[in-house]
Amino acid sequence: STMPPLLSAIANAGRHGVLAKSAVVMERLGEIDTVALDKTGTLTEGTPHVTDLYPLPGAGVDEGALLALAASAENPSEHPLARAVVAAARERGLPLTAVEDFSSLPGRGVTAAVDAHTVTVGAPARLLDPAAQQAHQAHQATAHLAMAHAMVAELEEAGRTAVVVLRDQEPVGVLGIADRLRPDAMATVAALTRLTGHAPVLLTGDNVRAARHLAAEVGITDVRAGLLPEDKVAAVKEWEAKGRRVLVVGDGVNDAPALAAAHSGIAMGKAGSDLALKTADAVVVRDELATIPSIVRLSRTARRLVV
Ligand code: ADP
Ligand code: MG
Repeated sequence: STMPPLLSAIANAGRHGVLAKSAVVMERLGEIDTVALDKTGTLTEGTPHVTDLYPLPGAGVDEGALLALAASAENPSEHPLARAVVAAARERGLPLTAVEDFSSLPGRGVTAAVDAHTVTVGAPARLLDPAAQQAHQAHQATAHLAMAHAMVAELEEAGRTAVVVLRDQEPVGVLGIADRLRPDAMATVAALTRLTGHAPVLLTGDNVRAARHLAAEVGITDVRAGLLPEDKVAAVKEWEAKGRRVLVVGDGVNDAPALAAAHSGIAMGKAGSDLALKTADAVVVRDELATIPSIVRLSRTARRLVV
Protein backbone atom coordinates (compact mmCIF):
# COMPACT_ATOMS: atom_id res chain seq x y z
CA SER A 1 0.00 0.00 0.00
CA THR A 2 1.03 3.65 -0.37
CA MET A 3 0.04 4.56 3.19
CA PRO A 4 2.93 6.13 5.20
CA PRO A 5 4.52 3.44 7.41
CA LEU A 6 3.43 4.91 10.76
CA LEU A 7 -0.17 5.35 9.61
CA SER A 8 -0.24 1.84 8.28
CA ALA A 9 1.19 0.77 11.66
CA ILE A 10 -1.80 2.45 13.35
CA ALA A 11 -4.13 0.55 11.05
CA ASN A 12 -2.26 -2.68 11.77
CA ALA A 13 -2.39 -2.04 15.51
CA GLY A 14 -6.13 -1.56 15.12
CA ARG A 15 -6.38 -4.93 13.46
CA HIS A 16 -4.51 -6.40 16.44
CA GLY A 17 -7.04 -4.79 18.79
CA VAL A 18 -5.01 -1.80 19.95
CA LEU A 19 -6.20 1.76 19.37
CA ALA A 20 -3.18 4.09 19.01
CA LYS A 21 -4.09 7.74 19.36
CA SER A 22 -1.56 9.10 16.84
CA ALA A 23 1.32 8.26 14.56
CA VAL A 24 3.70 9.78 17.14
CA VAL A 25 2.45 7.20 19.63
CA MET A 26 3.44 4.38 17.29
CA GLU A 27 6.85 5.95 16.80
CA ARG A 28 7.48 6.22 20.55
CA LEU A 29 6.25 2.70 21.27
CA GLY A 30 8.99 1.40 19.01
CA GLU A 31 11.57 3.04 21.29
CA ILE A 32 10.66 1.50 24.65
CA ASP A 33 13.22 -0.68 26.46
CA THR A 34 11.53 -1.15 29.87
CA VAL A 35 8.02 -2.33 30.67
CA ALA A 36 6.17 -1.65 33.94
CA LEU A 37 2.96 -3.62 34.43
CA ASP A 38 0.19 -2.89 36.90
CA LYS A 39 -1.25 -5.91 38.70
CA THR A 40 -4.97 -5.70 39.36
CA GLY A 41 -6.91 -5.47 36.10
CA THR A 42 -3.76 -5.60 33.99
CA LEU A 43 -1.91 -8.85 34.74
CA THR A 44 -5.06 -10.20 36.35
CA GLU A 45 -8.53 -10.40 34.82
CA GLY A 46 -9.69 -7.59 37.07
CA THR A 47 -12.86 -9.42 38.03
CA PRO A 48 -11.87 -10.45 41.55
CA HIS A 49 -14.24 -12.31 43.85
CA VAL A 50 -14.81 -12.07 47.57
CA THR A 51 -13.60 -15.34 49.07
CA ASP A 52 -13.57 -14.65 52.82
CA LEU A 53 -15.65 -12.62 55.27
CA TYR A 54 -14.10 -12.12 58.72
CA PRO A 55 -16.18 -9.95 61.04
CA LEU A 56 -14.15 -9.05 64.14
CA PRO A 57 -15.56 -10.73 67.25
CA GLY A 58 -17.11 -8.07 69.48
CA ALA A 59 -17.39 -5.47 66.73
CA GLY A 60 -21.14 -5.96 66.51
CA VAL A 61 -21.38 -7.15 62.92
CA ASP A 62 -21.96 -10.60 61.44
CA GLU A 63 -20.77 -11.67 57.96
CA GLY A 64 -23.82 -10.21 56.23
CA ALA A 65 -23.69 -6.88 58.07
CA LEU A 66 -19.96 -6.57 57.40
CA LEU A 67 -20.45 -7.19 53.68
CA ALA A 68 -23.45 -4.84 53.45
CA LEU A 69 -21.52 -2.07 55.18
CA ALA A 70 -18.49 -2.49 52.90
CA ALA A 71 -20.62 -2.77 49.75
CA SER A 72 -22.62 0.37 50.60
CA ALA A 73 -19.41 2.38 50.92
CA GLU A 74 -17.89 0.79 47.78
CA ASN A 75 -21.01 1.12 45.62
CA PRO A 76 -20.02 4.43 43.93
CA SER A 77 -16.46 3.20 43.17
CA GLU A 78 -15.38 1.77 39.82
CA HIS A 79 -12.34 -0.01 41.31
CA PRO A 80 -12.28 -3.76 40.53
CA LEU A 81 -12.13 -4.57 44.27
CA ALA A 82 -15.18 -2.36 44.86
CA ARG A 83 -17.08 -4.15 42.08
CA ALA A 84 -16.22 -7.49 43.73
CA VAL A 85 -17.54 -6.35 47.11
CA VAL A 86 -20.77 -4.97 45.63
CA ALA A 87 -21.29 -8.13 43.53
CA ALA A 88 -20.86 -10.35 46.60
CA ALA A 89 -23.47 -8.34 48.51
CA ARG A 90 -25.91 -8.52 45.57
CA GLU A 91 -25.43 -12.30 45.26
CA ARG A 92 -26.49 -12.64 48.88
CA GLY A 93 -29.42 -10.30 48.38
CA LEU A 94 -28.09 -7.85 50.97
CA PRO A 95 -29.67 -4.39 50.94
CA LEU A 96 -27.23 -1.54 50.23
CA THR A 97 -27.56 1.79 51.99
CA ALA A 98 -27.30 5.00 49.97
CA VAL A 99 -24.19 6.88 51.10
CA GLU A 100 -23.21 10.50 51.48
CA ASP A 101 -19.86 12.22 51.23
CA PHE A 102 -18.31 9.43 49.18
CA SER A 103 -14.70 9.88 48.25
CA SER A 104 -12.15 7.55 46.76
CA LEU A 105 -8.62 7.49 48.08
CA PRO A 106 -6.63 6.33 45.02
CA GLY A 107 -4.32 3.41 45.83
CA ARG A 108 -5.86 3.17 49.32
CA GLY A 109 -9.61 2.61 49.19
CA VAL A 110 -12.82 4.53 49.72
CA THR A 111 -14.59 6.40 52.47
CA ALA A 112 -18.26 7.39 52.83
CA ALA A 113 -20.93 8.21 55.38
CA VAL A 114 -23.24 5.20 55.88
CA ASP A 115 -26.15 5.68 58.30
CA ALA A 116 -24.32 8.49 60.11
CA HIS A 117 -21.12 6.44 60.48
CA THR A 118 -17.92 7.06 58.58
CA VAL A 119 -17.08 3.83 56.79
CA THR A 120 -13.67 3.33 55.23
CA VAL A 121 -12.77 0.30 53.12
CA GLY A 122 -9.36 -0.43 51.67
CA ALA A 123 -5.71 -1.37 51.97
CA PRO A 124 -4.72 -2.67 55.43
CA ALA A 125 -1.24 -1.21 55.18
CA ARG A 126 -2.72 2.24 54.64
CA LEU A 127 -5.71 2.08 56.95
CA LEU A 128 -4.76 0.04 59.98
CA ASP A 129 -1.84 2.12 61.13
CA PRO A 130 -3.64 5.49 61.30
CA ALA A 131 -6.43 3.67 63.16
CA ALA A 132 -3.84 2.40 65.63
CA GLN A 133 -2.74 5.93 66.37
CA GLN A 134 -6.28 7.18 66.92
CA ALA A 135 -7.33 4.26 69.06
CA HIS A 136 -4.28 3.86 71.25
CA GLN A 137 -6.10 4.57 74.52
CA ALA A 138 -9.14 2.41 73.84
CA HIS A 139 -8.45 -1.12 75.07
CA GLN A 140 -11.21 -2.71 72.97
CA ALA A 141 -10.01 -0.97 69.81
CA THR A 142 -6.44 -2.16 70.37
CA ALA A 143 -7.62 -5.76 70.68
CA HIS A 144 -9.60 -5.36 67.43
CA LEU A 145 -6.55 -3.96 65.71
CA ALA A 146 -4.41 -6.93 66.71
CA MET A 147 -7.09 -9.35 65.48
CA ALA A 148 -7.44 -7.45 62.21
CA HIS A 149 -3.67 -7.61 61.64
CA ALA A 150 -3.69 -11.37 62.23
CA MET A 151 -6.56 -11.91 59.77
CA VAL A 152 -4.84 -9.77 57.15
CA ALA A 153 -1.58 -11.71 57.50
CA GLU A 154 -3.39 -15.03 57.13
CA LEU A 155 -5.18 -13.91 53.95
CA GLU A 156 -2.11 -12.33 52.34
CA GLU A 157 0.02 -15.39 52.99
CA ALA A 158 -2.60 -17.35 51.03
CA GLY A 159 -2.08 -14.92 48.09
CA ARG A 160 -5.33 -13.03 48.65
CA THR A 161 -5.85 -9.31 48.74
CA ALA A 162 -7.09 -8.34 52.19
CA VAL A 163 -9.39 -5.36 52.51
CA VAL A 164 -10.21 -3.87 55.90
CA VAL A 165 -13.51 -2.28 56.87
CA LEU A 166 -13.44 0.54 59.45
CA ARG A 167 -16.45 2.16 61.09
CA ASP A 168 -15.68 5.52 62.67
CA GLN A 169 -11.97 4.70 62.39
CA GLU A 170 -12.32 1.36 64.21
CA PRO A 171 -11.77 -1.93 62.37
CA VAL A 172 -14.94 -4.06 62.21
CA GLY A 173 -13.83 -6.76 59.82
CA VAL A 174 -11.62 -7.99 57.00
CA LEU A 175 -12.57 -9.27 53.54
CA GLY A 176 -10.44 -11.66 51.46
CA ILE A 177 -10.50 -11.11 47.71
CA ALA A 178 -8.94 -13.27 44.99
CA ASP A 179 -8.32 -12.53 41.34
CA ARG A 180 -7.25 -14.74 38.45
CA LEU A 181 -4.26 -14.21 36.19
CA ARG A 182 -5.18 -13.41 32.60
CA PRO A 183 -4.72 -16.56 30.49
CA ASP A 184 -2.12 -14.79 28.31
CA ALA A 185 -0.19 -13.16 31.19
CA MET A 186 2.69 -15.64 31.18
CA ALA A 187 3.15 -15.60 27.39
CA THR A 188 3.00 -11.80 27.36
CA VAL A 189 5.66 -11.45 30.05
CA ALA A 190 7.87 -13.88 28.12
CA ALA A 191 7.37 -11.96 24.85
CA LEU A 192 8.09 -8.60 26.51
CA THR A 193 11.20 -10.10 28.12
CA ARG A 194 12.45 -11.18 24.68
CA LEU A 195 11.66 -7.76 23.17
CA THR A 196 13.41 -5.64 25.80
CA GLY A 197 16.08 -8.06 26.99
CA HIS A 198 14.80 -8.10 30.58
CA ALA A 199 11.63 -9.05 32.40
CA PRO A 200 8.95 -6.42 33.01
CA VAL A 201 8.60 -4.86 36.46
CA LEU A 202 5.43 -5.17 38.51
CA LEU A 203 4.14 -1.89 39.95
CA THR A 204 1.23 -2.38 42.31
CA GLY A 205 -0.65 -0.72 45.09
CA ASP A 206 -1.46 -4.15 46.49
CA ASN A 207 0.43 -5.87 49.30
CA VAL A 208 3.87 -7.34 48.71
CA ARG A 209 2.89 -10.92 49.60
CA ALA A 210 0.03 -11.13 47.09
CA ALA A 211 2.16 -9.29 44.51
CA ARG A 212 5.17 -11.67 44.85
CA HIS A 213 2.88 -14.70 44.76
CA LEU A 214 1.46 -13.62 41.42
CA ALA A 215 4.74 -12.28 39.95
CA ALA A 216 6.44 -15.64 40.53
CA GLU A 217 3.72 -17.38 38.52
CA VAL A 218 4.43 -15.28 35.40
CA GLY A 219 8.21 -14.91 35.60
CA ILE A 220 8.55 -11.45 37.14
CA THR A 221 11.12 -10.95 39.89
CA ASP A 222 11.23 -7.16 40.19
CA VAL A 223 8.18 -6.33 42.29
CA ARG A 224 7.36 -2.91 43.71
CA ALA A 225 4.33 -3.21 45.98
CA GLY A 226 2.32 -0.97 48.28
CA LEU A 227 2.68 1.92 45.84
CA LEU A 228 0.54 5.01 45.75
CA PRO A 229 -0.16 6.61 42.35
CA GLU A 230 2.69 9.10 42.93
CA ASP A 231 5.08 6.25 43.80
CA LYS A 232 4.38 4.66 40.41
CA VAL A 233 5.32 8.00 38.81
CA ALA A 234 8.50 8.18 40.89
CA ALA A 235 9.54 4.68 39.74
CA VAL A 236 9.00 5.65 36.10
CA LYS A 237 10.95 8.90 36.52
CA GLU A 238 13.80 7.07 38.24
CA TRP A 239 14.24 4.75 35.23
CA GLU A 240 13.82 7.52 32.70
CA ALA A 241 16.46 9.61 34.50
CA LYS A 242 18.83 6.72 33.78
CA GLY A 243 17.98 6.96 30.07
CA ARG A 244 15.46 4.14 29.99
CA ARG A 245 12.31 4.49 27.90
CA VAL A 246 9.47 3.09 29.86
CA LEU A 247 6.17 1.63 28.70
CA VAL A 248 3.57 1.62 31.48
CA VAL A 249 0.56 -0.68 31.11
CA GLY A 250 -2.33 -0.08 33.50
CA ASP A 251 -6.08 0.19 33.87
CA GLY A 252 -6.89 2.21 36.96
CA VAL A 253 -7.37 5.80 38.06
CA ASN A 254 -4.29 5.05 40.19
CA ASP A 255 -2.26 4.32 37.03
CA ALA A 256 -3.18 7.53 35.18
CA PRO A 257 -0.29 9.68 36.51
CA ALA A 258 2.27 6.98 35.61
CA LEU A 259 0.65 6.46 32.18
CA ALA A 260 1.08 10.20 31.59
CA ALA A 261 4.65 10.38 32.95
CA ALA A 262 6.05 7.44 31.00
CA HIS A 263 7.60 7.49 27.53
CA SER A 264 4.56 5.43 26.46
CA GLY A 265 1.37 4.46 28.24
CA ILE A 266 -1.11 1.76 27.27
CA ALA A 267 -4.44 1.28 29.05
CA MET A 268 -6.45 -1.92 29.25
CA GLY A 269 -9.72 -0.85 27.64
CA LYS A 270 -12.41 -3.26 28.74
CA ALA A 271 -12.35 -2.71 32.49
CA GLY A 272 -10.20 0.41 32.34
CA SER A 273 -11.22 3.58 34.14
CA ASP A 274 -12.18 6.60 32.03
CA LEU A 275 -9.18 8.51 33.33
CA ALA A 276 -6.73 5.77 32.33
CA LEU A 277 -8.26 5.54 28.84
CA LYS A 278 -8.08 9.31 28.42
CA THR A 279 -4.49 9.57 29.68
CA ALA A 280 -2.95 6.62 27.82
CA ASP A 281 -1.31 6.93 24.40
CA ALA A 282 -2.95 3.72 23.24
CA VAL A 283 -5.80 1.51 24.42
CA VAL A 284 -6.11 -2.27 24.26
CA VAL A 285 -9.66 -2.57 22.94
CA ARG A 286 -9.66 -6.31 22.42
CA ASP A 287 -9.26 -7.59 25.95
CA GLU A 288 -5.96 -9.39 25.35
CA LEU A 289 -2.65 -8.56 27.03
CA ALA A 290 -0.75 -10.41 24.29
CA THR A 291 -1.55 -7.59 21.84
CA ILE A 292 1.00 -5.41 23.66
CA PRO A 293 4.20 -7.16 22.51
CA SER A 294 2.62 -7.40 19.05
CA ILE A 295 2.20 -3.67 18.67
CA VAL A 296 5.63 -2.90 20.12
CA ARG A 297 7.00 -5.17 17.41
CA LEU A 298 4.84 -3.45 14.77
CA SER A 299 6.06 -0.03 15.89
CA ARG A 300 9.67 -1.10 15.64
CA THR A 301 9.12 -2.36 12.11
CA ALA A 302 7.33 0.85 11.09
CA ARG A 303 10.15 2.97 12.52
CA ARG A 304 12.72 1.07 10.51
CA LEU A 305 10.67 1.75 7.37
CA VAL A 306 10.45 5.48 8.19
CA VAL A 307 14.15 5.89 8.98
P1 ADP B 1 -3.18 -2.09 41.63
O1 ADP B 1 -1.98 -1.19 41.51
O2 ADP B 1 -2.81 -3.49 41.92
O3 ADP B 1 -4.12 -1.98 40.45
P2 ADP B 1 -4.56 -0.14 43.28
O4 ADP B 1 -3.48 0.89 43.32
O5 ADP B 1 -5.77 0.16 42.49
O6 ADP B 1 -3.98 -1.60 42.92
O7 ADP B 1 -5.00 -0.37 44.76
C1 ADP B 1 -4.02 -0.60 45.72
C2 ADP B 1 -4.60 -1.17 46.94
O8 ADP B 1 -5.47 -0.19 47.53
C3 ADP B 1 -5.48 -2.36 46.67
O9 ADP B 1 -4.76 -3.55 46.68
C4 ADP B 1 -6.43 -2.25 47.84
O10 ADP B 1 -5.82 -2.79 48.98
C5 ADP B 1 -6.62 -0.78 48.03
N1 ADP B 1 -7.79 -0.25 47.33
C6 ADP B 1 -7.79 0.68 46.34
N2 ADP B 1 -9.03 0.98 45.97
C7 ADP B 1 -9.85 0.20 46.72
C8 ADP B 1 -11.28 0.03 46.82
N3 ADP B 1 -12.12 0.72 46.08
N4 ADP B 1 -11.73 -0.88 47.71
C9 ADP B 1 -10.89 -1.58 48.48
N5 ADP B 1 -9.56 -1.46 48.45
C10 ADP B 1 -9.04 -0.60 47.58
MG1 MG C 1 -5.08 -1.79 38.26
